[in-house]
Amino acid sequence: MCDPVVQPEYLMTPFLKTGEYANRLSSMLLIAVAAVLCCLPSPSFAQEQSSVFSARQISQAEELRNIALSSSDAYRHVVSLTMEVGPRLAGTTGDKAAVAWALATMNKLGLQNVRAENVVVPHWERGEIAIDITMPYPQRLVATALGGSIGTPAGGIEAPILRVIDLDELEATPDTEVAGKIVFFDKRMQANKDGSDYSPVVKARRNGPAKAAAKGAIAVIIRSVGTSNARLAHTGKTKYEDGIQRIPAAAISNPDADLLAMQLAGGGTVTVKMTMSARYLEDERSANVIGEIRGTSRADEIVILAAHLDSWDLGTGAIDDATGVGVVLETLSQILRSGKKPARTIRVLLAADEEFGLFGAKTYAAKYMADLNKHVVGMESDFGPGKIWRISTLFPADRAGIGNAIHKPLESLGIEMGDNETGWGADISPFKELGMPVITLIPDGTKYFDYHHTASDTLDKVDPENLRQVVAAFVTATWLAASGDVDFGFREPEEPEEE
Ligand SMILES: [Zn+2]
Repeated sequence: MCDPVVQPEYLMTPFLKTGEYANRLSSMLLIAVAAVLCCLPSPSFAQEQSSVFSARQISQAEELRNIALSSSDAYRHVVSLTMEVGPRLAGTTGDKAAVAWALATMNKLGLQNVRAENVVVPHWERGEIAIDITMPYPQRLVATALGGSIGTPAGGIEAPILRVIDLDELEATPDTEVAGKIVFFDKRMQANKDGSDYSPVVKARRNGPAKAAAKGAIAVIIRSVGTSNARLAHTGKTKYEDGIQRIPAAAISNPDADLLAMQLAGGGTVTVKMTMSARYLEDERSANVIGEIRGTSRADEIVILAAHLDSWDLGTGAIDDATGVGVVLETLSQILRSGKKPARTIRVLLAADEEFGLFGAKTYAAKYMADLNKHVVGMESDFGPGKIWRISTLFPADRAGIGNAIHKPLESLGIEMGDNETGWGADISPFKELGMPVITLIPDGTKYFDYHHTASDTLDKVDPENLRQVVAAFVTATWLAASGDVDFGFREPEEPEEE
């Protein structure tokens, strides 16, 4: 999970609204009362559950689930991608190696219609960085450039720090206080299972440099958008605005942000020197890599599973998003190995350059726009290697019951039912916004932002056992979506969001 220009809605929407807890509690109460009154489940309830999918579909899904749980091996793909390719920032040789890896891996797994489809991507280079407090107590800070940042002049820049918590505080500060300063955004992100604190905190990273420059700032430093106290800086894309001066922007680790804040708390002027050589090179060619299991009776209908192939350059991109790549590839591999033939086509999209703004996803959407309505349902894996704990959906309101039917065989994996308002996925977001139904399998993200976009995004953070449960969930949902003729409908297109 990363930081596309289009904000993924999963970061915008709380998973359970307060009222829903109450609704759920009252329905649990009703079920409990019903169970006391009658030892058998209500016939209409049983009928509703079983009428969505055939008994055969359900038993096949359960069989696939059980096999995946005991023997799926998404981890080997994660090992392979992180060891043989490693960092794969768009436009780099690592990116090209990742495309070659994906083609070879899909062919080895026996996927059909394997192809690479060109995507033009920006090529940005991080370069070197040095950030030093020069006054009152000189110290070097652990820092990294924000993605897309320009560099400083060769001799660096030095200026007093203006500390603000967030964009609102910046907005409330008179321009005269901001002019000529290095603005320090100092909002701490809290860890939680659903990653919901990311959305409010990441705004300063994404929009802070442009907003600060508009008020006369000469550079921006942010407290890393991350949840650990390790001395690790978290990168991530920042976004300049046309017509506004581009200024250098960097993140410092949480402990370094504490250090800077402590010096500021003394009340005197704190000055910092920044020297950065980040820059853009010429655009490069990358590719979306696509492979399929062709459907039988409904081959022109597509169930799409997405993950992104690119990664940031600091780590080996194990949790973001080699894990997702491994999960979706292994899901198809499990279905292929079972010999079961889906009615619909199951398509894997390994998208190019998610990190710099969904370049692969947007190219895919433009290329397949005529097939939009044939994309029956979408899923994505891009929030790390934690166990799946909840399923949510984004179906037309009158089809919400399909989600309950998909949830049924997931219960034994410890997965609870969420709402019908949450559809995740950056790389499927262009079609989701146009109304494609979405199934979201939500992993436990408590630790995800400890490592996200850092040098510590490495293989040791991935637990092979957890991935078996994840693949078991994906294979179950994928099979139910692809094996029959359930009509997921199509949603109304969403209103465009303000960035
Ligand atoms: Zn990601």
